[in-house]
Amino acid sequence: MEARRRSSTKPVQSLKPTKTVSVDEDLTKASDALPLPLHLSNAVFFTLFFSAVYFLLSHWREKIRTSTPLSVVTYSEIIAILAFVASFIYLLGFFGIDFVQSLILRPQTEVWNSEDDDEVADVLLRKEDARKVPCGQALDCSLPPLPPPAPIVTVQKVLDEKPVTVLTEEDEEIIKSVVAGTTPSYSLESKLGDCKRAAAIRREALQRLTGKSLEGLPLDGFDYESILGQCCEMPVGYVQIPVGIAGPLLINGREYSVPMATTEGCLVASTNRGCKAIHLSGGATSTLLRDGMTRAPVVRFGTAKRAADLKLYLEDPDNFDTLAVVFNRSSRFGRLQGIKCAIAGKNLYLRFTCTTGDAMGMNMVSKGVQNVLDFLQTDFPDMDVMGISGNFCSDKKPAAVNWIEGRGKSVVCEAIIKGDIVRKVLKTTVESLVELNMLKNLTGSAMAGALGGFNAHASNIVTAVYIATGQDPAQNVESSHCITMMEAVNDGQDLHISVTMPSIEVGTVGGGTQLASQSACLNLLGVKGASKESAGANSRMLATVVAGAVLAGELSLMSALAAGQLVKSHMKYNRSNKDVSKASS
Ligand code: ADP
Repeated sequence: MEARRRSSTKPVQSLKPTKTVSVDEDLTKASDALPLPLHLSNAVFFTLFFSAVYFLLSHWREKIRTSTPLSVVTYSEIIAILAFVASFIYLLGFFGIDFVQSLILRPQTEVWNSEDDDEVADVLLRKEDARKVPCGQALDCSLPPLPPPAPIVTVQKVLDEKPVTVLTEEDEEIIKSVVAGTTPSYSLESKLGDCKRAAAIRREALQRLTGKSLEGLPLDGFDYESILGQCCEMPVGYVQIPVGIAGPLLINGREYSVPMATTEGCLVASTNRGCKAIHLSGGATSTLLRDGMTRAPVVRFGTAKRAADLKLYLEDPDNFDTLAVVFNRSSRFGRLQGIKCAIAGKNLYLRFTCTTGDAMGMNMVSKGVQNVLDFLQTDFPDMDVMGISGNFCSDKKPAAVNWIEGRGKSVVCEAIIKGDIVRKVLKTTVESLVELNMLKNLTGSAMAGALGGFNAHASNIVTAVYIATGQDPAQNVESSHCITMMEAVNDGQDLHISVTMPSIEVGTVGGGTQLASQSACLNLLGVKGASKESAGANSRMLATVVAGAVLAGELSLMSALAAGQLVKSHMKYNRSNKDVSKASS
């Protein structure tokens, strides 16, 4: 019974018809029925046909000349007529066979054609992509030489070869009860005690309820236990995002291969080019300015005076030690650094800042804040806690407080890019970069009333690295705050570039960082999990890498813009190669 209830796995081939086509197998032709090889039979009958025709015509001409009636037929003429008829029938049949074969083969050739087209397109793309410079030097990265043609061509997707979950009869009953509403979908994990099976049942129920197929959203190949109660509720599968590598990125004398999860063509290639320019120029220097996660509850009093009393109390250095002891009880890693208050009438916003070790720290800081609020209730019993977060924190929203005060890790990263590297690798000049930076990232953003957006595309790099390494991608809002500065140095020969990012919110423990794929990406960077040397060292290093990758991205995109390459490279790498209408159909 127990065995029956468990989800079983078996190869998908047995479940779905697949279009596997082998060169060796396939295609019995009508001509295979002939005793001789086709070309030999053809030669024999063609010869026979024309010989018979020639023989008969010459004989008949002779008869006409000698006035012999044509009806008088000799023995040799009878043989010639028979040979003519036989070869005529064969030749008629031959063209018939060819016609029939072309009909039989048409469906298969269409399958091949689609593959061949792709292969041809691939070859063309590879040829077009072939470069004379090493990868990273220009946007168009060279590809390895073409592999020899595979002996077997298959239309089947690699994904289909994975085992798939097969639902049992008992699963079918549960699906029906979920569809009927008698079993809540959210309760499947706790009821079944098998997260994978719960996801499979929920998925099937969802498809039936909505009438929409989830084909393409994989279910198998994911550890659903690892997300339970921590990362995602009511899972029905997982979305695949490709991970590309930019680098090596040389920061503070150390090389990093930067994983970027993205579906935006050009992004990794562009960042890679920036990494190359930085590397050839001796690397970048990334400096951590501060490290502190914030949480700001909103509390309300009967009068503004009472709110002001609490503000003064909290900001009095004499009270800080007591409050820090209370706050720090919540965690081994959370250490209170300060409290900044803002008043709005009777309402007070208390912005707590604390270190959080290697965790991004939102949970940690919230627990500490709750401890302090409970403690304050003794001296301020008239204080109403309206919300543990009053948006003065400020989490996942653009806010000047983060831009000015910082949140998470504040980092400045700089590099001097040599003039000849700017010309050879980035295909532009120091002068044009400096001018464009002033016009676009500084003046243009000022004209747009930007808040922390004095950069070309920091959020592109931040988000791709965040997704790859299990950060909260919603925090890209403030984490992407960045001002990019460029200046000509060394008598105008070289370029000084810097990115200043006051609120990079990253962790290497907790949240999505512990999931297998994300953890592998952190491992690649050498910052997986809790630092063994000192708490927080891994997450701080990750923040410096994020800033370094942003520096590379800024350098490359600004260069592409300065050189007028942007549209060209996007046409090449992004959407131009695919027929979108076909893809959607
Ligand atoms: P967050 O606060 O970022 O939401 P969590 O609270 O989910 O993260 O994860 C942090 C957890 O990891 C805490 O329970 C903490 O005690 C534990 N932990 C273990 N090692 C470390 C470390 N080096 N730095 C921070 N937290 C750590």
